[in-house]
Amino acid sequence: MKLGPIGKLFQIPTTAEVTPELNGKLMAVIYKSHFARVGAPTRGIYDAIRLAPKYGICPLCGQRSVGSVDHYLPQSLHPIFNLTPVNLIPSCTDCNKAKLAKVALTAEQQTLHPYFDDLGDERWLVADILESNPLAIKYRVRPPSYWTPVLAERVKHHFEVMGIAVLYAAQAASELADISHALVKLGNSGGASAVRSHLYEEFASRLASDKNSWKTALYESLCLSAWFCNEGFRLVN
Ligand SMILES: [Zn+2]
Repeated sequence: MKLGPIGKLFQIPTTAEVTPELNGKLMAVIYKSHFARVGAPTRGIYDAIRLAPKYGICPLCGQRSVGSVDHYLPQSLHPIFNLTPVNLIPSCTDCNKAKLAKVALTAEQQTLHPYFDDLGDERWLVADILESNPLAIKYRVRPPSYWTPVLAERVKHHFEVMGIAVLYAAQAASELADISHALVKLGNSGGASAVRSHLYEEFASRLASDKNSWKTALYESLCLSAWFCNEGFRLVN
């Protein structure tokens, strides 16, 4: 697991067994029916891992609730790491399913590991406004200069595997529908500048809480868009 902090876990060869007596199937039984079983003495460790994320939010998508503990290196291919704490990561059901037993053959194909991968403190999530009727929001990754090319590819790959752009776009559409009535009211009384200042305050508040949440990216784009503040806010469907 020394390969974790340097982003090279994909180099660990897969194995079918731990020892000739302890194969993958038996390790899976030990994990499910003993380690993670409700009431087992080790269940406290399982729960500590599952409940570790702030607000119970899945660290892989940053949106849905944690449902279970996932094996970063799949248990079917790496039974030797079946009970290794750094290989056990909290995950929502959808991210768990999306990842399943996908094997990374290159460094770029590795999804992000919440314990090892640090994306830093700069903004990297962007919400593009598609100036259409009804308007739409499209999310993408904008790698900061200090990311290595491999990390940039990994984040993009992670986004794709977990379906994050689609997930965030749906959340953004719902958020826009929620604020639409208030924006139209504000636009009617104070015009584009009132809409812009309101959206800027919303952006600043989200930024203070999380620099790269879908909400921060959304409100940033909304307040910066002259099109949205002038007329786009009336095209929310
Ligand atoms: Zn998730």
